[in-house]
Amino acid sequence: MTRDDWDQTKERLLKTVGENNYKMWINPLALASIDKGIATIHVPTTFLGNYVSQNFADLILHEMKVSSRDLARLNFSVAPKTAASAPSPDFRRKTNTKPVSTNPLYTAPLEGRFTFDNFVVGKPNELAHAAARRVAEGGPVTFNPLFLHGGVGLGKTHLMHAIAQELRARSPELNVLYLSAEQFMYRFVQALRDRKMMDFKEIFRSVDVLMVDDVQFIAGKDSTQEEFFHTFNALVDQNKQIIISADRAPGEIKDLEERVKSRLQCGLIADLHPTDYELRLGILQTKVETHQATYPDLEMDAGVLEFIAHRISTNVRVLEGALTRLFAFASLVGRKITLELTQECLADVLRASERKTTIEEIQRKVSDHYNIRLSDMIGPKRLRSYARPRQVAMYLCKLMTSRSLPEIGRRFGGRDHTTVMHGVKRIEELKQSDGQIAEDLELLRRALEA
Ligand code: ADP
Ligand code: MG
Repeated sequence: MTRDDWDQTKERLLKTVGENNYKMWINPLALASIDKGIATIHVPTTFLGNYVSQNFADLILHEMKVSSRDLARLNFSVAPKTAASAPSPDFRRKTNTKPVSTNPLYTAPLEGRFTFDNFVVGKPNELAHAAARRVAEGGPVTFNPLFLHGGVGLGKTHLMHAIAQELRARSPELNVLYLSAEQFMYRFVQALRDRKMMDFKEIFRSVDVLMVDDVQFIAGKDSTQEEFFHTFNALVDQNKQIIISADRAPGEIKDLEERVKSRLQCGLIADLHPTDYELRLGILQTKVETHQATYPDLEMDAGVLEFIAHRISTNVRVLEGALTRLFAFASLVGRKITLELTQECLADVLRASERKTTIEEIQRKVSDHYNIRLSDMIGPKRLRSYARPRQVAMYLCKLMTSRSLPEIGRRFGGRDHTTVMHGVKRIEELKQSDGQIAEDLELLRRALEA
């Protein structure tokens, strides 16, 4: 870790903890050394060391890992008198400029490789990609908000960053603010505590484009939701573009106020579906080029990518990780990448992604199949048009997961295990007598195993 890295780490910490905390606790710290994964940080007093260690150690470690990946632990020790005295010149500059118009303190850093060029498009993400592209053109606002949702590791953050970077490149004059919902909450709480709500409101209401990632995070956090709702409305009224992502559709986010939900549903909702084989193969083919540039001498057998695309179907992040590991491993042992080597190197990942169907997936697939809402499937309604799909889903959960009946009941809106048992029995009977049900089951099972 260079001096620069440390300075940058501190700058990021300033953004996260806010000026007051920074001045009080972070700025007095001095990086003394890093050795065998342990960073020694000098503190002026034992008291300060204890406080920082209890309250900020995780955060500091997290930020330091950006440049020192192997760092495992921090060690605070009282410094010889001279270390860590005056605030760095950098910090002074920051405090003197009021962050109102360009809000450098509020927007989160963007990942350089998350661009549209690096995003592989396939059936499952076609709509989300097209909508993201449209918004990134920065033309007149046609749908507000754009709501992107999908499971973990399917490219939501990638698309969000791509939009932000494209907008900034095309229209540098636009004030684009990107942050996670968690950061939004953090800023909000901080503003409340520091009595800076006016600044907070001013900053958020003066942006041209507001992008909030992982908005499900604010569910159940009442005052943050309230503030988010007001910010949202103020911006929509001014016809400013808002882009939101979440791990599920607005209607399915629990503990989100109705008025927030309905606001979020006003624009375009685009779903990132789980990857299919073609998309996974496409992504692998793209990523393999970067790896081959890094390891030009490594050879790879035909069929290896196809094998991985077939066998690892969880999410793109896992897929990427597998490929990185494979190349690193092959280069270390100096062997060609064969199917055998792949199986050996990725044994644990392959095992982990073997038929690991979850209750949630089943509920999702079944409600899609019968065209009902997930909330109705899990909810209390007893109408036949909900009850039957519910029983089908319960049956599949029993069949395809290792969950117990009480556990399954819990996940279906807190139902009793006897209800689940009854449902499972009923479907077993129907499977014999009702051709349609038998066909549905077969279709669903195959889709879930794919
Ligand atoms: P999410 O935010 O939905 O959890 P991310 O956007 O962080 O997922 O994506 C996880 C990883 O997978 C990132 O490294 C991202 O670049 C990559 N990724 C996801 N979808 C694609 C895609 N269609 N093409 C290329 N890379 C992708
Ligand atoms: Mg994300």
